[in-house]
Amino acid sequence: MTLELRLAEAVGDDHVLVDASLRASYETDWTRRFRGAARCVVRPATTAEVAAVVQACVAEDVALCLQGGNTGLVGGSVPVDGAVLLSTARLRDLDAVDPLSAQVTVGAGVTLASLQKHVRAAGFDVGVDFAARESCTVGGMVATNAGGERVLRYGTMRAQVLGVEAVLADGSVVSRLGGLPKDNTGYDVVSLLAGSEGTLGVITRLRLRLVPLLAGRAVALIAVDDTAAAVDVVRRLRDRLPSLEAAELFFADGLALVREKAGLAAPFADVHPAYLLVECAQHGDPTDELLAALEECEAIRDATVASDPRGRHALWTYRESHTESINAAGVPVKLDVAVPLPSLAAAVAELPGTVAGVAATARTILFGHVNEGNLHVNVLGAVDDGEAVSDAVLTLVASYGGSISAEHGVGRAKREWMSLSRSPEEIAMMRSIKDALDPRGLLNPGVLL
Ligand SMILES: Cc1cc2nc3c(=O)[nH]c(=O)nc-3n(C[C@H](O)[C@H](O)[C@H](O)COP(=O)(O)OP(=O)(O)OC[C@H]3O[C@@H](n4cnc5c(N)ncnc54)[C@H](O)[C@@H]3O)c2cc1C
Repeated sequence: MTLELRLAEAVGDDHVLVDASLRASYETDWTRRFRGAARCVVRPATTAEVAAVVQACVAEDVALCLQGGNTGLVGGSVPVDGAVLLSTARLRDLDAVDPLSAQVTVGAGVTLASLQKHVRAAGFDVGVDFAARESCTVGGMVATNAGGERVLRYGTMRAQVLGVEAVLADGSVVSRLGGLPKDNTGYDVVSLLAGSEGTLGVITRLRLRLVPLLAGRAVALIAVDDTAAAVDVVRRLRDRLPSLEAAELFFADGLALVREKAGLAAPFADVHPAYLLVECAQHGDPTDELLAALEECEAIRDATVASDPRGRHALWTYRESHTESINAAGVPVKLDVAVPLPSLAAAVAELPGTVAGVAATARTILFGHVNEGNLHVNVLGAVDDGEAVSDAVLTLVASYGGSISAEHGVGRAKREWMSLSRSPEEIAMMRSIKDALDPRGLLNPGVLL
């Protein structure tokens, strides 16, 4: 029996896509920079079906690549040529919210937006949020240990996960969905799979910790002179406001591009070098506290505050439209890095010159999440110099003691620079774990290691 027939037996004929036109949308990543030709796309709907798919691929010694919402930005979600691509899109179960423990169990293919809708109806919220919410899946978010806009308050995706069900590379199933917040019985399988980028197992279900649904919200868009001023404002607001939930940074060139691509009006009468967007959330209205705290920040040159949903959304659009506007301007080289907060201003100042040194005509657009020193470095007009740009930027980041991958993962894009952020001993430890769990290297080959 051919592999395709075995897969069809496992998931049904309709969910094995062999035709090139049906495979196409799964074979190119969101940035259009990475692509691969899959042998077929397979769409299982249950953990048992995933296990059957893995077993069929193992029997034929065929590589299996994993894809959730395909919004990853490091080339990890597209197949290697000739691999079977497993899409988690049909793992969409949403169990009822458990209000007592403030937890929920969901399928790995549920999108963040569907999860938010589901838990908000029960009076809860999800601690992680970011602009890809309509497409990115919970399984992909855990596999990449996604961060986003609320890490300041709730941590990254790993901190939201209390249990996991996954199919390992030999087709066996590990399932721990009990949701005990305290359970130190040996190695932590949940932590191991979080951030493993699909190299150790296929995550099929998750038990998630929820956070309170906070209806009182206020957003401020703040104009400042530079990154140092933005960092200073965030430090002061963080000290004053326990309700502070987000602190995002962008610059005049990024705002100009967003305005051009999204057709937005200028937020202020004057153009300023840097902008900070902050959000506070609590049960009552936080607007007065936010305004009072802003009054005390001398570095602020201008500010506008919105408390109603429409006004808040309008302010967030200036920040959240960056990724799409940059993509609309061309195929970017994207690097997601972090430096220690005291070095953020120096790194921002140095980055454009560092890029220009290896790609003279390239356009560098930066934005990021201030409190974690996390910068998204987007370089347009440099795809042919992608290697040199990555090398220059990541070497600079490492010189500050930073991370070459703050929240997007390593994927295929940054594999060769792992040693800038991890010691030979740490990489050897990762290699041993991979070899133990996937000795034939069939899961997501070429990703991470
Ligand atoms: C507009 C935009 C904004 C973004 N903003 C942020 C942000 O603020 N913070 C942030 O962290 N990221 C951000 N991202 C990146 C991306 O959305 C995240 O990395 C997200 O977690 C990927 O989820 P996904 O379902 O699309 O995964 P995919 O892109 O499909 O896959 C990502 C990786 O996870 C693996 N994988 C997927 N599902 C599973 C599974 N069930 N089991 C095992 N492995 C799996 C894949 O093989 C791949 O290696 C953004 C992307 C876009 C397009």
